[in-house]
Parts: sequence; C-alpha cells; structure tokens
Amino acid sequence: MSGGSSCPLDQGNAELRGQASRFAQLAGLRVVAAGEGGTGLANSPAMALQNFPCSWISIVTLAVAATGLLGCNLVTGADDLVLSGAAQSPGDGSDGIGGQGVGATGAGATGSGGSGAYQGGETGAPTEPMASTEGVIITDIVVYQSVARPIMQGGSTTSSAIPIVANRDALIRVFYSADGGYNGQPVTARLSFGASSPIEQVETPVGSSSEGTLGSTINFAVPAAQMQSGMTYRVDLLQPVDQVSSDNPAARFPTTEGSFEAIPAQVAGNLTITLVPVQYNGDGSGRLPDTSATQLQRYADLFFGMYPVSGIDVQVRSQPLSWGSTVAAGGNGWSELLNAVADLRSSDGAASNNYYYGIFEPADSFSTYCSGGCVAGLGFVGGPSDSWAHAAIGLGYSGDMAVETAVHELGHNHGREHAPCGVSGDPAYPYPGASIGVYGYDLVHGQLYNPSQFVDMMSYCSPTWISDHNFKAIFDRVKFVNGAQIYTPPELQNRSYERVMVNPDGSLTWLAPIVLSRPPIGDATATTVATVNGPELVTGALIRYDHIDGGVLFIPPTAQPMAPQRAVSAMVDGKWLATGP
Ligand SMILES: [Zn+2]
Repeated sequence: MSGGSSCPLDQGNAELRGQASRFAQLAGLRVVAAGEGGTGLANSPAMALQNFPCSWISIVTLAVAATGLLGCNLVTGADDLVLSGAAQSPGDGSDGIGGQGVGATGAGATGSGGSGAYQGGETGAPTEPMASTEGVIITDIVVYQSVARPIMQGGSTTSSAIPIVANRDALIRVFYSADGGYNGQPVTARLSFGASSPIEQVETPVGSSSEGTLGSTINFAVPAAQMQSGMTYRVDLLQPVDQVSSDNPAARFPTTEGSFEAIPAQVAGNLTITLVPVQYNGDGSGRLPDTSATQLQRYADLFFGMYPVSGIDVQVRSQPLSWGSTVAAGGNGWSELLNAVADLRSSDGAASNNYYYGIFEPADSFSTYCSGGCVAGLGFVGGPSDSWAHAAIGLGYSGDMAVETAVHELGHNHGREHAPCGVSGDPAYPYPGASIGVYGYDLVHGQLYNPSQFVDMMSYCSPTWISDHNFKAIFDRVKFVNGAQIYTPPELQNRSYERVMVNPDGSLTWLAPIVLSRPPIGDATATTVATVNGPELVTGALIRYDHIDGGVLFIPPTAQPMAPQRAVSAMVDGKWLATGP
C-alpha cells in the first residue's frame, strides 16, 4: 500500500498543470477588455511570459513519467500493483497520431505511465481458497471518468443523475477503513464484472481512505471495453481462508456472496472535431496556426479528459480557409470569420456530431496580439438540433491556451452557458465560485483535481476542469446529437433561408442565403420582411454568439415574394432592429 507521498509526481503534475492552466487564463481570458479585472487577475504579457516555463515543464515531466523510470504508477498512484504478463495495457496504440488526425479513445486510464494494473483474472494463478478479510470495511465505491460519480456509499447503492459513460475508460476507486481487527497481511482486491474475468490487485490497507489521496484507495483501471450498458459488478477484499477466523460481509459489496450490482452505464457516442486552419491574411502574412502532431495531441487529450464521450476524433481540414480581413483583439472581425467557418461546415456536409473549430494566428505571437487584452475565442450557442451552429473559432497558437479555449468554445456549442466566476451566466450552476463541485479526474494523465482549487471550464477563472454539472449537461447534448432521430416534415426540409447578421451595435448586415436540411431553432424572433405586398410578419431564428451580443438571424421563406428593395426588421432583446433602407 502506498501513501500519497510515494508518488510525488502525481501531485507535482497536478500543480504544474494547474499553473499552465492558470497561464492560459491569465493571458487568454475568452473575452478580456484591457484592464478589466473580473477575476482579480492581472492580464499582462509579463505574467504570460513568467508562466510559459510552467507549461513547458509540465510537458517534459509527463514525457519522463511515461517511461516509467520512476517506478510509480500514474494511473493508480500505487507502487505495489500486481504485475503480470497480461499487463499489456488495452489503451496502447489506440491514440496513435496518424497524419492529419488524432484520436483519444482511452489513452489514459489503461495506457501510458503505468507499470501494469491488471492481473489476467485467475487464469493460470494458483487457486487458493479465499474469504472476506477481517477488520477492513468497504465504505464507498466511486467511478471516475472525468468527475467523481459514487456508485456505493456506506453500504448502499448510490443513485445519481451524473452519467456513467459506456465505452469510456474508468478509474474505479474502492474506499475502505481498516481497524485493529485487520491482520496487516496483503489483501487481494477483486473487481468482478458479471461473467468476464475479474481485475485483481494486491494491497495492504492502512487506516482509512481519503478522496484527495489517490494512493489511499484501492484503484482499478477499467478499460472502456468493460464499461458497457447493462454491466454489473462486485468487489471483494480477500485473504486466504487460513488467515480468516470469522466472516466479514463488510469487506465485500454486494454483501451477498456471488451477487452483482448494476452500474448504469449509458451510451453517449463519440465527438469529432474538425480543426479548420485559417490562413490569416488580415495582415498580409498568410500565417497558419499550429497543427503539428504535438499540438493535435493536446487537443485530443484535453477534450477526451473532460468530455463525456467514448472517443474524440481530432482531424484537420485538408484545405485551409483563406481569410483576408482583420480579426482584431478587441472583437471586430470575429463574427464574420465565425460565420464563414459555420458555412464551410455546412457546405462540407459535415455530420451533426462533427464540430468545426477554426484556428488562426492574427499576429506573430500571442503576447503581441493580446498585449492589451483580447478575445481568444467565439462560438455559437445553438439549440440541440442546430447543426449549422456546431462551429466556433479561436486562437491557434502552440500550447495549452489554444486547447483550453477550444474546450470552452465547444462547451458553448453544446449549449453550455458560463459558470459563475469572473463572468455571469448559467443560472442553474450549482456551486459557488464555479467550483467543479466534486473531485475531477484526468484519465489521460492520471491526475486528481480538487474541487476547492479547480473551477469549471465554462468560467473565466482558473485552473480549470469540468464540473459534474456540465459533465452531465454535455453528456445529454452529445447523446442527443448522436442519437437524434429528428422528424422534419417534407415541406420544411432543405429550405432556403435569408439571413442577416445581428451585430453587437444593433445594426443588421445581410448574409448570403443558405439551404438547411431542417429549420433552425435558435431564439424565436419576431421579424418583419418587406414583400411585394407590404410587410409580412414571420418568426425568425436567432442563433446567438457566446461572447459578443448578436448572432445570425435565419428568416424563413415569406408567403409573398420579397420586395426587390430588401428590408427586414427584427425584435431582439426588446428593440426593433432594422436593415438599412
Ligand atoms: Zn465563453
């Protein structure tokens, strides 16, 4: 049994990760007006530079850890795991970087860094009669896939709205308490799943578990293939029968020998992210963003770490989008580029679960661009079936900042509002200061995130992880998008919509019409359109931007032909806005 201190790397990494993240927030608040201090954190290039080395160190440290030289298991935090020839981790090779695409479908819990957490069931092992260990009781059993989700507390199955995601790796931690009745001899901890081979490891329990210390619990790295809807489990803490004098039902769950309890895993499906390299010509440079294999892996790892999906597929659109207009730190030009990326997604015929994310570098360096504060990302907040709005854009410099911005922007694309720290937003957010609420866990890097330190990725504070609140909300959205059978009456399919851009200053700008396979949802917006027979009232759909006022208003076909001199007015936020004469 290892104490938490036997694996100092875990803590060190968590801290470095936090600092790298803090850098991103200091320097790259999604919308930062110069001198604005919503988070109480200054935003200056000097601070950004100070923090660069932390980000760099974090990466180097992880590379070292992955060699396993330190003899420390990053997955479980334990250093005395059972080793066996079957320890070849199921995650190996599933996150390969191939050309222009990167996947993450379980790179973490079962993959890098570990010295092997599995014993191949009982096959080939000497069989010895075992019985429940005396003096040790199982107090809690918790599934970690991004956030803590208890399945047993105090001997009873926990009911919870927080989803358990099928086909996604999990760390299952067994919390215990050992007392004077325990003989101090090694305990075989066995996690069984119905008919399949159990996972076993040998531990020597000490005292009682605490959630913040990975090494204080018995930890099972469960591969995605084992996490299936309809799955069942049981846990036994066993010793050879000759070491046991009387039965201890509390050292097993369920307490009835040989019975199993359900784990309500649900299928959400995968998420595809298409990075659209924007060739930035707003300054005549033709600069392209970082789409190196290293950077792509950062996107894949952070999305997989946080999002409630079974896999993340990061791909790069082969053809960059050439962009000749200025996209300014203060916000000008952002909405035009976002609209272009959304239209590109539409004309590419991308699937509903394929989110387009345009990345670009509007200046030589981030610190040059953001010296006086800057917008770092912009996306749409559309309804569940508004596939056109599955698009966002953000800065595409090397490093974690671009990736954290992408995670935040796609959160908006999944309907999430801001978590309340440094910004107001989601009225249903359950935790003060945008705390993540429960312990977070990063399957990719084997790190635990304390809710007293980490805030939700939809906030403007740092360091960030995902809360159970947004984990559930994004799960619901992913499940809907992947599984939706949306009925659209034939007469509403593939219609052409006139569009106007609702600008932050309240002006309206015509956009090219677009054909959508089903009607947009957005916000229902009273709209009058000039027709050959006078004004006609229709209900438009306004799909809003996340970080600036306004959005794109879709106008359904009018009964009468539009007047040759096009004119439209729309009621937005209590005001009638109108196009020019
Ligand atoms: Zn935001």
